[in-house]
Formats: sequence, structure tokens, C-alpha cells
Amino acid sequence: MSQQVDCPKCGNKELKKGIIRAALSVVHMFPENNPRSKSSPISSIYCKSCGYILESYIDHPERLED
Ligand SMILES: [Zn+2]
Repeated sequence: MSQQVDCPKCGNKELKKGIIRAALSVVHMFPENNPRSKSSPISSIYCKSCGYILESYIDHPERLED
């Protein structure tokens, strides 16, 4: 991501990338119809100031197989 965006909630410019985790393990996305498919971790961009999550995406969408 190259474009600089501000937080829509508080206007802070310090946005960070995070990985959504459940306790000690990374939460993965699986295809709805194929839970045995390969999966991908989920990353998010969040505001360091107010904590608002601007966007979430999976790191490797090409891995998921319907
Ligand atoms: Zn914010």
C-alpha cells in the first residue's frame, strides 16, 4: 500500500498493519464451502490513535480453494 490515508474517525495519520490473532494463534480465513482448503492469515490496517480498523484483508487470497 503506497497511498497515505488518514483515519476517518479521528484524522490520525499513524496507521499500522496488524495481524488478527486469537490468543496464541493467528486467525485464518477459509473458503466457506471448503474448510479443508489451504488458508491465509488475516491482516488489518488500524489507527494507532483511536484503534479504528480501516480495512481487513487476507494475505494470500490465491491459496483459498473453493
Ligand atoms: Zn483514529
